[in-house]
Amino acid sequence: MKPEKMRAVASYGPYDSRYEEVSVPEIGEGEILLKVKGCSICAGDLKSYHGGIRFWGTSEADRYVEPGSIPGHEFVGVVEETGPGVTCCKAGDLVCAEQILPCGECYFCKNGMHWMCQRSAVFGFKNYANGGFAEYVKLPKGTRTHVLPQNFTTEQGVLVEPIACGMHALEQANIRHDDVVVISGLGAIGLSMCNIADLAMPKLVIGLELRDDRAEKAKEYGADVVLNPSKVNVAEEILKLTDGLGCDVYVEASGSPKSAVQGLTVLKNHGRFVQMGVLSDLVTADWNVIGDGKELTIIGSHLSAKVYPAVIRGIEKGLIKTDGLISHTFKLADWEKAYDTAANDPTAVKVMLEP
Ligand SMILES: [Zn+2]
Ligand SMILES: [Zn+2]
Repeated sequence: MKPEKMRAVASYGPYDSRYEEVSVPEIGEGEILLKVKGCSICAGDLKSYHGGIRFWGTSEADRYVEPGSIPGHEFVGVVEETGPGVTCCKAGDLVCAEQILPCGECYFCKNGMHWMCQRSAVFGFKNYANGGFAEYVKLPKGTRTHVLPQNFTTEQGVLVEPIACGMHALEQANIRHDDVVVISGLGAIGLSMCNIADLAMPKLVIGLELRDDRAEKAKEYGADVVLNPSKVNVAEEILKLTDGLGCDVYVEASGSPKSAVQGLTVLKNHGRFVQMGVLSDLVTADWNVIGDGKELTIIGSHLSAKVYPAVIRGIEKGLIKTDGLISHTFKLADWEKAYDTAANDPTAVKVMLEP
């Protein structure tokens, strides 16, 4: 039987998250209660904790986070209870949920583009869509749930969301077999994108990363070449590797404005630029490169579209790798240490909390 109270991390403001006792959510029609097995920390959770303006706004009017909400959208758990009308899963199933809770009402939801929902409610930032830094999480009606194979590890379960975001960015890129693909930023998602880009069998996969210790992992994950922008002239190296033409695809996954500008520089004429990372600052670039210069295609990538099932199949078949992507695991009570590790430890790839 589920208890009445549970421990959770709740966020009340920048640098004000609290480990506290809250009620286990009651569930009603169409709702599911998950007993959380693990939930990994997304860059977005950290940016919110550190007071990011996209999260807390400049006043209450443009604040995205509801105070008291429980963060964490990269969770996996076992179904504890289902409300009336739930048919997608049953008690005991291992389940993960898509990060966005679609409203079901807006133009995008009604036209099959739930990930572009205008309400834009990602789990972990709203009181009606609390996240997985807790012992239990309620999946409200309309949640897009996915039942995972029972032999998935907790690590594999939590990684479905971040990998899905990377996979969607790559589907946006439309990789062809004679393409040279550059992935800039080799965090957990970037590493996974090396893997998934490699599965598409392009001519070359090049990873860009400031941390040298990532190079070996990136090669294990399918990168043919890894360059460190702080040590080599990336543009020169890419030109050398491409007969002076530049790369066909540049996926910006680092969130650094410098990396975005670099993409415009290293792409070849008619190249495709995919913006996947969430940028920390405004980008200043010579916009002419896109038009009068190279006739580039600029493509955005938001969340994970419809790729969860493909990620789950890929992990199940062993095509999509997950080993080593969760570098650290902490107990929920040690959330502060976990946040600190995720933000500051150079050996951290992705950090997971477990109740
Ligand atoms: Zn995430
Ligand atoms: Zn909607």
